[in-house]
Amino acid sequence: QAPNFPYKRVLLKVSGEALMGKGAAGVDPEMVDMVAADIADVAAMGGQVCLVVGGGNIFRGLAAAAKGMDRVQGDYAGMLATVINALMLQNALEKRNVETRVMTAIHMASIAEPYIRRRAVRHMEKGRVVIFAAGTGNPFFTTDTAAALRANEMECDALFKGTQVDGVYSEDPRVNPNAERYEQLTYMDALARNLKVMDAAAISLARENALPIIVFNMHAPGAFAAAMKGEGRFTRII
Ligand code: UDP
Repeated sequence: QAPNFPYKRVLLKVSGEALMGKGAAGVDPEMVDMVAADIADVAAMGGQVCLVVGGGNIFRGLAAAAKGMDRVQGDYAGMLATVINALMLQNALEKRNVETRVMTAIHMASIAEPYIRRRAVRHMEKGRVVIFAAGTGNPFFTTDTAAALRANEMECDALFKGTQVDGVYSEDPRVNPNAERYEQLTYMDALARNLKVMDAAAISLARENALPIIVFNMHAPGAFAAAMKGEGRFTRII
């Protein structure tokens, strides 16, 4: 148990959007550094952290398929996009003297380690931040599902999902300011009410292993460390 946190080992899902900043796409180095600073703080306080990085700021298979691209090809392109984000995040973390390893679900051994579960666990035991890239390695999945999968494999105590708002709402609070915010939900609530916090495959995987999901706003400096301590506003799905 890390003295500062109720959790020993956690997985943080960093969506592509979180790295995008104010632009409509691409990567904002300032945002990447803000996210890295937050992760570095948690690691310095003794939290064992691994990350699953999204790619939606660069490429989404589904969006490309809607414009006529083959879905599977599009999904592979999307998975490669997550690798770009992972390398940027790794760079930002290492600038802050955090030891990291990128592990990819699709082998590209000249730039990152292949994902091997037992090696990943070993890295985390040594205090390294492990960045999981290329999603699950399979088309038709999302990086949210990859996050739930890796969190289960790593035997994480919780899955932290950083979003643009401070928890799960009945509707998008940026569209309807009167939307209800939930403190706590069950997996079944999240599934049945179709709350769009994570896709159904991800929630089902978390449910199967009773992996708590903590949904919090990642757009403030120190937000991850605060959520790790149980401070601030967030929604717990259990
Ligand atoms: N993707 C995939 N399999 C996976 C994970 C991701 O095919 O296991 C592809 C999919 O095309 C997706 C893209 O990678 O649209 C980027 O991931 P995602 O949309 O989950 O990123 P985020 O929304 O978190 O930025």
